[in-house]
Amino acid sequence: MPSEFALIDRYFRRPTRQTVLGVGDDGAIVRPTAGMELVISTDMLVAGTHFLPDTNPEDLGWKTLAVNVSDMAAMGADPRWAVLAAALPAATESWIEKFARGFFACADAFGIDIVGGDTTRGPRNFCVTVFGEVPAGVALLRAGARLGDDIWVSGRPGRAALGLAHLQGRHVLDAPLLTDCLAALQRPQPRVLLGLALRGLATAAIDVSDGLLADLGHILDASKVGATLRIPALPAAGLERDCWLAGGDDYELVFTAPASRHAEVGAIAANISLALTCIGAVDSNESGALTVLDAEGQPVDTARRGYDHFA
Ligand code: ADP
Ligand code: MG
Repeated sequence: MPSEFALIDRYFRRPTRQTVLGVGDDGAIVRPTAGMELVISTDMLVAGTHFLPDTNPEDLGWKTLAVNVSDMAAMGADPRWAVLAAALPAATESWIEKFARGFFACADAFGIDIVGGDTTRGPRNFCVTVFGEVPAGVALLRAGARLGDDIWVSGRPGRAALGLAHLQGRHVLDAPLLTDCLAALQRPQPRVLLGLALRGLATAAIDVSDGLLADLGHILDASKVGATLRIPALPAAGLERDCWLAGGDDYELVFTAPASRHAEVGAIAANISLALTCIGAVDSNESGALTVLDAEGQPVDTARRGYDHFA
């Protein structure tokens, strides 16, 4: 295995586009845009916990950055810079080369400069910190949902969890659904354009990493409100329904917006070619209360709410 410095130079040092000083010194230097606030988020991916050990390295590289970019989307921020701390076993260079290819593909797709990091030997583990910008005061928080707001979700929740169930032999999917579900799992698409479009419109937002109900629950808790979901086209029962409601790893956005602005949300869906589904409303002051009704108006059991690493 080449030296740490050779690895960094070969695979993680790329030209930057919007950075004063990138990889190579003791610290990076960036110049935030005047009038903008910095939004900062970090996420770790650990082999065996967040990805299967035999995951394709190029997909893993994409996902390592994408899950962090998704937090920027959920804040309504424009992602601009990121740093990568990587622990690698004595891996072959071909593995690292593929990982870097996927990682930088995601950086390029979202206009992010990779400005630094750390590289060490150890059990495979990646930690990214991402820095985004948002005009002062307009970031989308979890705490802003209000009585009467609509609740929306982007895309089709549960696809990543279904793809994982297929890979683990717990469920059998056929093409083309299989292709979609594996793409959702392996190449999640952070909803950055949606987050930007929701500035000044959404009252609260979160990205679905642990499951729709669990993550919506964070909005309701933070906003001290309760909600009823009436979900059109909720799968009838079984694993597909569980994944829709509680499957993690989706990176879709769940957000609230005033009912009076329903049509504006619909216009965004058309503009950015992304399905946005109104799945319910904020309808009580009972903090965190959540009732789920299926397409026929029957209550759905929501005991299994999401993924908790320490449960
Ligand atoms: P230091 O000893 O000062 O922490 P390092 O030797 O760890 O410096 O890193 C050298 C340079 O390479 C630094 O600019 C650091 O930010 C960058 N770097 C290290 N690992 C990575 C990586 N995986 N991706 C991007 N930049 C990295
Ligand atoms: Mg270092």
